[in-house]
Amino acid sequence: MLHARLIELEKQFKFSPLTQLFSSLLEQNQVELWIKRDDLIHPVISGNKWRKLKYTLDHALKINAHTFVSMGGTYSNHLHALAFIGKQLGIKTVAYIRGEQAKVLNPTLQDIQNWGMELRFISRSDYRLLRQYKGHDKLPDRFSVDLQEGYYWLPEGGATTLALKGVGEIIFEIEKELDFDILAVPCGTGTTLAGLIETETKNSFFLGFSALKGAGFLINDVNNLLTNKRKSTTHWDIQLDYHFGGFAKRNDDLLLFIKGFENEHQIELEPVYSGKMFFGLFDLIEQGFFKPGQKIVAIHTGGLQGNR
Ligand SMILES: *Cc1c(COP(=O)(O)O)cnc(C)c1O
Repeated sequence: MLHARLIELEKQFKFSPLTQLFSSLLEQNQVELWIKRDDLIHPVISGNKWRKLKYTLDHALKINAHTFVSMGGTYSNHLHALAFIGKQLGIKTVAYIRGEQAKVLNPTLQDIQNWGMELRFISRSDYRLLRQYKGHDKLPDRFSVDLQEGYYWLPEGGATTLALKGVGEIIFEIEKELDFDILAVPCGTGTTLAGLIETETKNSFFLGFSALKGAGFLINDVNNLLTNKRKSTTHWDIQLDYHFGGFAKRNDDLLLFIKGFENEHQIELEPVYSGKMFFGLFDLIEQGFFKPGQKIVAIHTGGLQGNR
């Protein structure tokens, strides 16, 4: 059973609706496109970050962790969610942040600091080093404070095996409402995609959209998170070409697309993840990538705080 403090915290969350989108493009290509609104589950916590953190933090609380330690970039939705959750739970939080501290903190870091997270800015090389540490109780000696009892390490983006179970709950919710053929999701670390693949019980196809450039390694990373029976890539793939120059990079095409989408559907996107996924998805639909009659579900993973 989930730790009592997380059951209490979960009362703040709303069920995310599944709604169908309509447009002439979809009609012409005879595909159905649905959107799972995980951007609406909480006013502060980004959708997939809660899903990923839920069972990792459950483990942390059950082994009596008193401090969560993690890492991220200066606009990290993961740290933003973790800092807020830490405050709600009364658990101390510490973050290693890539790069030097700017004179004025951006709105993401400002929030994080207001919620009591301790910020430690580190060099890019140290950041790369920390990236390799995935276990909750292991860090390089130099970061040894975090090896003391009660400190719990969460890797970048909350990419743990325990994250898969929480993400899988999205599948249960969707399957109750719709018999879908394709599920689309944006990818950073690929953990969300892995959780979806791992949980699904029918014969659906999963399509990730990488937010990063040159992210061929994601196939391997996702495979490493999956248990054996799910490793076969006949059930999933990752689109690697809709990165727009790299992580958090954007251009006018992307921004125009997002504006058009928002006007047409009254749903806010952001350019780092959901904007790129929908751009890619619409491009593939236009190319006839999907068969007529197929039902596609795209997951809106949230992250709108980064738009500020
Ligand atoms: C972190 C994040 C992702 C990427 O999730 P991964 O599990 O790392 O692939 C996608 N969308 C949003 C909004 C995010 O904040």
